[in-house]
Amino acid sequence: MSNRIFLCCCQKCGVRFEFIGSYEHFNDFMESKVFVCRGGHSEQRSPRHFLKLIRMSEPSPVTEWKPSEGLNYVDILDVQTTRMRNMQMDHLGSGLYIDRRTLTKYDYEEDAKGYRHYFEVHERRVIER
Ligand SMILES: [Zn+2]
Repeated sequence: MSNRIFLCCCQKCGVRFEFIGSYEHFNDFMESKVFVCRGGHSEQRSPRHFLKLIRMSEPSPVTEWKPSEGLNYVDILDVQTTRMRNMQMDHLGSGLYIDRRTLTKYDYEEDAKGYRHYFEVHERRVIER
């Protein structure tokens, strides 16, 4: 999966930092059970309670793109596909989409030609490490 840069701000101590990873990894991180802030404090609650997302970059293009295993690719940019599936696509920003009907989010990998391969985001709520 392509990485994005997430610029975050801790609302408790004010420190700003960048999280680099896929949208799914960022969500996993935000749902972690504990939060160790780079500002020097640790919390027994998930980062979601403390962090504010300031900015999310678009994913960096992949030079030799090929489908990743375990990802469900859907061509949400194709009107016929979305119509047939009765999807109600809404842009969330930075190329991220949500289907308002199913609340499924879609992220993408961009290949060297600039084509965006969209796939379903798996929203995980339980983190095991
Ligand atoms: Zn902090």
